[in-house]
Amino acid sequence: MMPTQVYLVGAGPGDPELLTFKAARVIGLADVLLVDDLVNPRILTHARLDTRVVYVGKRGGCVSTPQAFISKLMVSEAQKGHTVVRLKGGDPCVFGRAAEEIAAMREAGIQYEIVPGITAASAAAAQLGTPLTDRSSGHGVALVTGHTADEDEDDTHWRALLASGLTLVIYMGVSRCDRLTQTLLRAGASPQLPCAIVQAASAKGTREVRTTLSQLANTIRSEKIESPALLLIGQAMAAHVELRPALAAQA
Ligand code: SAH
Repeated sequence: MMPTQVYLVGAGPGDPELLTFKAARVIGLADVLLVDDLVNPRILTHARLDTRVVYVGKRGGCVSTPQAFISKLMVSEAQKGHTVVRLKGGDPCVFGRAAEEIAAMREAGIQYEIVPGITAASAAAAQLGTPLTDRSSGHGVALVTGHTADEDEDDTHWRALLASGLTLVIYMGVSRCDRLTQTLLRAGASPQLPCAIVQAASAKGTREVRTTLSQLANTIRSEKIESPALLLIGQAMAAHVELRPALAAQA
């Protein structure tokens, strides 16, 4: 079998200790390391000194490197015989544009491997001390993009999500919170539905706030929540809240 030429690696949610052993080892194999902006720079200490590091993310509204360019670079570097590591925040398979890159590798016949990472939802739940699932109030969890709150002509998809009773973890939802809450309320959600907002889970400057659906957008504004942040919505977010002070006191 051909050796792996390209690795899509999850860097975890921010805290460098939340990187897997495998990710750390694979980063050390890289001749070329393509790094997203949500990756903690301390993780790059696992790379060799001679590794070429290319930053391909966007920050503060700057234009990001086009996905087609990134995929092409991955292919051309692999074809030169270099080991390429594409390092992404969280898990590469959760809103990580992995599909485009996998398609490019397949098309070029390049051997690739995916190394999973801890996604932001898991870090947020741990930090809140609130499981995403709960035997009585959360039978499952849906990882959802907030993007479509802008685009949806109708609310069918949000209605279905609400009716499912799953805990909704919304990625990329902060800048669209007004539209998002209006859509959910119109779709029949209770204004009192428990919500949590976690900014920069597990990372420097992290903050968490609990609120209700009707207050979600106001809370985001009054607390000046900034990206990256997750919105967690559902009955399960009300559970275990009373346990937190006791847990904190023990620590
Ligand atoms: N692949 C990543 C998600 C990338 S999409 C993962 O698995 O976590 C980018 C969005 O993820 C951000 O807009 C934000 O909503 C969320 N996000 C990423 N890291 C985060 C963190 N540490 N805390 C809160 N949200 C985060």
